[in-house]
Amino acid sequence: MTRVEAQMRSTMQDVPLSIASIVRYGTTVHGSSEVVTSTGDGVRRATFADVGRRAAQLANALRGLGVTGDQRVGTFMWNNQEHLEAYLAVPAMGAVLHTLNVRLFPDQLAYIIDHAEDVVVLADGSALPLLAKVLAQCPSVRHVVVNGAADISVLDGLDLLVHAWEDLIADQPDTFDWVEVDEHDAAAMCYTSGTTGNPKGVAYSHRSIYLHSMQVCMGDGFTLNARDTVLVVVPMFHAMAWGLPYAAMMVGTSMVMPDRFLTPEPLAQLIESQRPTIAGAVPTIWTALLAHLDAQPSDVSSLRNVVVGGSACPPALMKAFEERHGLHIIHAWGMTETSPLGSVCQLPRGVDGEEAWPYRITQGRLTCAVQHRLVGPDGSFVPHDGTSVGELQVRGPWVTASYYHDDDPEKFHDGWLRTGDVGSISADGFLTLTDRSKDVIKSGGEWISSVELENALMAHPAVAEASVVGVPDERWGERPLASVVVREGETVDVEQLRAFLAERVASWQLPERWAFIDEVPKTSVGKFDKKVLRKRYADGALAVQTMAGPGGSG
Ligand code: AMP
Repeated sequence: MTRVEAQMRSTMQDVPLSIASIVRYGTTVHGSSEVVTSTGDGVRRATFADVGRRAAQLANALRGLGVTGDQRVGTFMWNNQEHLEAYLAVPAMGAVLHTLNVRLFPDQLAYIIDHAEDVVVLADGSALPLLAKVLAQCPSVRHVVVNGAADISVLDGLDLLVHAWEDLIADQPDTFDWVEVDEHDAAAMCYTSGTTGNPKGVAYSHRSIYLHSMQVCMGDGFTLNARDTVLVVVPMFHAMAWGLPYAAMMVGTSMVMPDRFLTPEPLAQLIESQRPTIAGAVPTIWTALLAHLDAQPSDVSSLRNVVVGGSACPPALMKAFEERHGLHIIHAWGMTETSPLGSVCQLPRGVDGEEAWPYRITQGRLTCAVQHRLVGPDGSFVPHDGTSVGELQVRGPWVTASYYHDDDPEKFHDGWLRTGDVGSISADGFLTLTDRSKDVIKSGGEWISSVELENALMAHPAVAEASVVGVPDERWGERPLASVVVREGETVDVEQLRAFLAERVASWQLPERWAFIDEVPKTSVGKFDKKVLRKRYADGALAVQTMAGPGGSG
């Protein structure tokens, strides 16, 4: 794009986009909207107005503990009311919210607390023992604020002060003069789940969160509005819960928070009793819920949109939910680095019924603010024709330009983020991802999409889950290994699965190595952990059945 010299300036006011303005608006104009938190055997409720008052008390208390400027305040919490209060209070007082993944390995957790230099950590009592294990390695942390019942003796011997959340805020004023910020200042940070090496920090700005929240609410986003209630299953410690909390505050969408009760039974009960209209979670949550609903039907009819992202949503899962439970799944793609919303699969005009499926199984349309291009292995641009494949690169106002205090030149090129995701884009902007670049199976000079094989396998009625990884092969370089979890009460053998696949993929792509496993290992954010499967194979820890390969290699 070219710029005209001495361009005429606009007459518009320069008002910063800030979390403070979302807090002020949401907690007053939408003061009667609610946040409902699961307690395991029931729920507790608060209005947005209550949450606003308590957020102000928390901000006053944090100031009292000495939190100033852009200091980092960590949260080690599940999805609940108090976590929402921290989401509002910390950035709106000018500090930086750092959400810590409660499922990270201790070493990585210690690394990110130390790297971000968190001065205070707000922690759920139930998660305290995990946090306690690493705090000795985190000298920056001066205070831990504990939410709910806890055994605080696990913190004995540590050089820091421990406070009970309710005691700490009890006598604090319930108003706070929220801070005017430069909209480009950091508001929150999140570390990527880090498949290899140390996790990388992404610092979101007030502006990026504000703009992203608007996109989440839009009709081609997740369509949030004041008449909706959103079930926030995607953890608030993973990519800011897809931006749902701030978006909901912006437009008055009530929120239902499952806290730590994430197994299918309590989730199904929560849906039946609280009647959310929108929900968001990774495919593994929905796969488990589907099995539960099939065995024990409950009323999930309130849900009009179920957003699934974080990893590829198997088309079979979408179809099963639609046909058996009347639930409409919307596929979305994003990354920690993209705030995370990149694309959402809302249908084009006039497309309905069976015609919709070719669209619905894609990752959807990249949104207007997320500029995109596909780059081939030789660095040339790949046409957006729906079939040519390349690495997806993106740029935009809510896409990170770098990692926090951690150069990674490989990830950033020429002002663009290299996503590491490989796929095609149609002329009308629908993205179809075939793989992560590191998961594509390179067999004899041809590429096999592990995701395509997984989706085809998971369409088999006896298959609960399936993960496919490339393993070394003398003749072909790499060949697919399929690890399959059989649905309870079903039986199936390799020959049957190969015959099923043969109708869906080219014969040279058929895996010859197979393992039946109890569960696909998952990462800390619920994705298939392919690195663990590769290692199990390399260590000889998988019982592998091997058939003849393409051209007779075995
Ligand atoms: P994270 O930063 O942990 O959210 O991981 C981001 C990565 O998850 C992306 O780069 C993709 O590889 C993967 N991902 C997210 N959403 C999808 C999706 N709908 N389909 C396939 N992969 C996805």
